[in-house]
Amino acid sequence: VIVRGRLLLPEAGAAWIEDGAVLVEGDEIAAVGRFADLSAVRPDAEVVGSERHVVIPGLVNAHYHGEGLSTVQRGHLDGLLEPWMTAYWARIGAIDAYLDTLWSDLKLIRSGVTTALHMAFHRGSGDPRQEAYDSLRAHRDAGLRIAFSPQAKDRNNYVYDDDGTFAASLPAGLRARLDAAVAAMPPWTTDDALTLVDDLAAETASDPRVRILASGSGPQWCSDELFVRLREAADRLGTGLHFHALESPYQREWGRRVYGRDTLVHLRDVGALGPTTSVAHAVWMTEAEIDACAETGTAICHNPSSNIRLHCGVAPVTSMLERGVEVALGVDGMGLNDDDDMLQELRVAAMVHRFPRGLEPRWGPGAVEVLRMATLGGARATTYGDAIGRLRPGAKADAVLLDWDAVAAPYLDPATPAEDALVHRARAAHVDTVIVGGEVVLAGGRFTRIDEGEVAARLADAAAATPAPPAVLDELRPAIAAWFEGWEEPDYRPLYVVNSRS
Ligand SMILES: [Zn+2]
Repeated sequence: VIVRGRLLLPEAGAAWIEDGAVLVEGDEIAAVGRFADLSAVRPDAEVVGSERHVVIPGLVNAHYHGEGLSTVQRGHLDGLLEPWMTAYWARIGAIDAYLDTLWSDLKLIRSGVTTALHMAFHRGSGDPRQEAYDSLRAHRDAGLRIAFSPQAKDRNNYVYDDDGTFAASLPAGLRARLDAAVAAMPPWTTDDALTLVDDLAAETASDPRVRILASGSGPQWCSDELFVRLREAADRLGTGLHFHALESPYQREWGRRVYGRDTLVHLRDVGALGPTTSVAHAVWMTEAEIDACAETGTAICHNPSSNIRLHCGVAPVTSMLERGVEVALGVDGMGLNDDDDMLQELRVAAMVHRFPRGLEPRWGPGAVEVLRMATLGGARATTYGDAIGRLRPGAKADAVLLDWDAVAAPYLDPATPAEDALVHRARAAHVDTVIVGGEVVLAGGRFTRIDEGEVAARLADAAAATPAPPAVLDELRPAIAAWFEGWEEPDYRPLYVVNSRS
């Protein structure tokens, strides 16, 4: 197969090839060059694409949770992260993991994603193991390349404090109802979570589109001992470790209270950071933490839409890039359009860092840097490395063909860099063809493997029939909100200057 376009980008930051093409053999790229040259060598090859198309490396959504229906679609409106998270568990029932994940994959593929890092949390069915298997089956059916990462946690289920301490603070009746709800849930231990990771890895070892990563929910929810075990699991599997950290100012403050120092500095000394570690969010990093990530080669998964929607702020990505931190990009199921459009997320990432920075403006990442995050950065975070994020010989044949006439319509000045036109103008609707491992999974805007309408109908039925979570979770919300009172710090010294009170 030869994949061609009027322009082809071999790699973010490289020069576009006019009338470019890649020759695909098996699931890999055998050659990159001009279409005329490659088709002369292989005149028998099937041709995908045309002069109407622009070809870019497949995009990598480096952090999300496999949610097909958005939280808004399920009646859970945006809010401040901590009470929002609690209300999530109180309001979002255990929807069918297979159908919900499959729908999430269709959204991603439609916006040019060929690889995603799915941090799998418990959906509330009481059987996290079955949920993980169902989600992974959906990814394999959709044809997406996946870094699947079932999360482990071993503490602080309600607030950033011991569950027993929190329960003891509740009125006796409420505490009894909580105890009863917890007792009704089947047990799920840290050992269970780590066994699941090993089992999934063993069963998918021969699948080039699956890697199983170790994952901790985040430092508030994972002891140091658990981080050590997760690091060992990641090394044993030869993959990586992924976790949330420093998403909100409360999380930053929690680290100072519990560790007595910056969270990522502590986790570095625990051994959790390194070149196969990726950290989602990292909005509230100090300079020392940015340095710790740069020195250890730790990648950051930037989730700008999610951070806006959940009142978390803006991650200091400009500072990260200046210090050489590898940054990837994730939609986190919280895209600004509520549709998980990865191309839109590139645009948000390009816009949200444009704060004043003196007369020589550093307006945050430019189009090339944002494209790099969504390709090469994602390759690092998912631990696929050189195999994805680029159209080079030996890499997996993961590519996206955009309808460039539609992106440019009715006219685009030839002097406009194609990266800028892409980042500022392209939407999921412009994605024409998506190729994963040499296989066309979206052709002319239609899925080749999946009947989209049928999945939509089944998912709608499943959502309507999903039972509500235990009512006691909703009763906890006032106590949880009260627990965080007084945590705000007045003396921030932000890395970005946003505005000024005096
Ligand atoms: Zn997340």
